[in-house]
Amino acid sequence: MRAFFLAVSLVFAALVAGCAGQLIDRGAYFADVSQRAASADSRIRFLVMHYTDGDEARSLAELTRGDVSAHYLVPVHPLLRDGRPVVWQLVPESQRAWHAGQSFWQGTTELNAASIGIENVNLGPRDTPQGRVWDPYPPDQQDAIIRLAKDIVARYAIPPTRVVGHSDIAPQRKTDPGPLFPWKALYDAGVGAWPDEATVTAELAGRAPDAPADVRALQWKLARYGYDVATDGVLDERTRRVFAAFQMHFRPRDYSGTPDAQTDAIAQALLDKYLPGLARESAPPLPSPRPSP
Ligand SMILES: [Zn+2]
Repeated sequence: MRAFFLAVSLVFAALVAGCAGQLIDRGAYFADVSQRAASADSRIRFLVMHYTDGDEARSLAELTRGDVSAHYLVPVHPLLRDGRPVVWQLVPESQRAWHAGQSFWQGTTELNAASIGIENVNLGPRDTPQGRVWDPYPPDQQDAIIRLAKDIVARYAIPPTRVVGHSDIAPQRKTDPGPLFPWKALYDAGVGAWPDEATVTAELAGRAPDAPADVRALQWKLARYGYDVATDGVLDERTRRVFAAFQMHFRPRDYSGTPDAQTDAIAQALLDKYLPGLARESAPPLPSPRPSP
């Protein structure tokens, strides 16, 4: 009997000794981290790009003292240290920044809770007699944005279709980061999505780029890609703003919100490339009209 107790206490001692290295002292208690669950992912699942609509001094003041914030702020001409750009970090990545507001992407709402937000100093649009003019992103700012985004996307394994603009996730309220944002340069550096040109040509299937596209078909493509858009086939202001947001991101030469064949082909090419499971899913039936009395 004594031998039995000795064996039990030896096993117990071994267990305690085995665990001791896995215990985290939290002051009033210990957390044992020796067992890890297989099902888990990062709380950070999206990267959201913005422009500040103001110069650096005003942007810093608003983002540090106002009721909006972002994790990072990239200056127009970042200072260099050892040949590398310096960006402002205003909120720790473990904390929620208040940059997205009411938002939606790929079924997720309120993206503040699940994203990193990058504000880029940029004066935004100006309306002139010749039309709307957008403030460019200079090459050294683009370089800093790319370095920062590459690092974030790698650390949190953020997939290409989840690197988005504020206008993508809140198209009814926002136009930032605007049509001059360097989405293609980011893609070339390995960040975010971009359609393959050959697929776009194939999806055009002989249609002229400016030929009209079916409204409902385009709505359904963008809904599958991630946008909050109706699939009722009605080209109202809400739908136009979603089409314009998509065009600003992927076809900035014309972001009028008009549904054309090139926009339609780009949307299909993106689905084929990044979301093949959804790419050929057909639209749900339209609700049948009520019989008139
Ligand atoms: Zn924004």
